[in-house]
Amino acid sequence: MPELPEVEVTRQSFCERIHGARVTAVRVGKPLRWPLGIAPDRLVSRTVGEAARRGKYLWLPLQAPGDAQGGLLMHLGMSGSLAFSEAPGEAGTHDHFDLVTTRGTLRLTDPRRFGAVVWSDSRSEGMAAKLLSGLGLEPFDPAFTGAHLHAALKRRRVAVKLALLSGDIVVGAGNIYACEALFSAGIDPRTRSDRLSRPRCDRLAAAVRDTLARALALGGSTLRDFRDAHGMEGRFQAQAQVYGRQGEPCAVCAAPIRRVVQGQRSTFFCSHCQRR
Ligand SMILES: [Zn+2]
Repeated sequence: MPELPEVEVTRQSFCERIHGARVTAVRVGKPLRWPLGIAPDRLVSRTVGEAARRGKYLWLPLQAPGDAQGGLLMHLGMSGSLAFSEAPGEAGTHDHFDLVTTRGTLRLTDPRRFGAVVWSDSRSEGMAAKLLSGLGLEPFDPAFTGAHLHAALKRRRVAVKLALLSGDIVVGAGNIYACEALFSAGIDPRTRSDRLSRPRCDRLAAAVRDTLARALALGGSTLRDFRDAHGMEGRFQAQAQVYGRQGEPCAVCAAPIRRVVQGQRSTFFCSHCQRR
C-alpha cells in the first residue's frame, strides 16, 4: 500500500513538469472508490496549478479560463500509482484516469481500484473538505511537537502504536514507520497512550519525523521515476531495525526481535530496548 513517503515522491515526480499545463482531454476508465463528481469535459482548458500533498492525498488545482477555481483530490488506495508521461501509450485495463495536458498525461493505474480522483471547488469545500477533515498534523509541520503528541495521547487509552496508525494525531506513521519510530524512541508499542511521559513523547515525535525523513531521502536518492515508488517501502524495509525481523538479533542489544499482532497488523519490536 502506498504510504506517505511514496505519495510525496510521486508528487515530486510530476509537480514541476505539469505545473502551468493546460488540460486538453480527460479519459475516465472503470469506476474508482468515489465518482469523479464533475463532467470530465468541464476540466478541459483548465490550467494545472501546483500539486500539493496532505497525508496520502494529492491536491491538483485546476483553474478555469474565467478564473473559476477547483481541483482534483487524488488517492492511490491500496495499489494505485500516478505517472506523468509525454507519450503514455494506449490505456491498459488497469488505467482508470487520464488527465491529458499540453505537456503530457497524468495517468492513474490502479488494479484494485480503491484509489480515487474526486473533484472539489476548493480544498476546503465538498468532498475534499470531507476527506481531509479528520487528518492529523503533517509530520514535518512545526506544530507537530512532543507537547502536541503528549496532549493528544493523553486522551487515548489504546496502545501507542495504534494511536500512531490511526492517522488522526499525525499522518504518515504507517505500519512499518510506526514500528521503526517506536524502536528508535525506545517505547514498547503496547504501552498505553495516556501513560507516556512528556519526555518520551518528545523522543517519539522526533523519531516519527526522522523515520519519515529517512524514507523520503531514500526515495529521493533511489527512485528513477514514479514506477519505483512502489518499491520504496521494500527498500526502506531492507534498512529497518525491527520491521520484518522477527527472531533476528536486535542491532543494539542482540535480543531476538519479537512480533505481536495489534489491530490485525504485525508489530515488530525489541522487548529489551523498548520499555513500557
Ligand atoms: Zn534491543
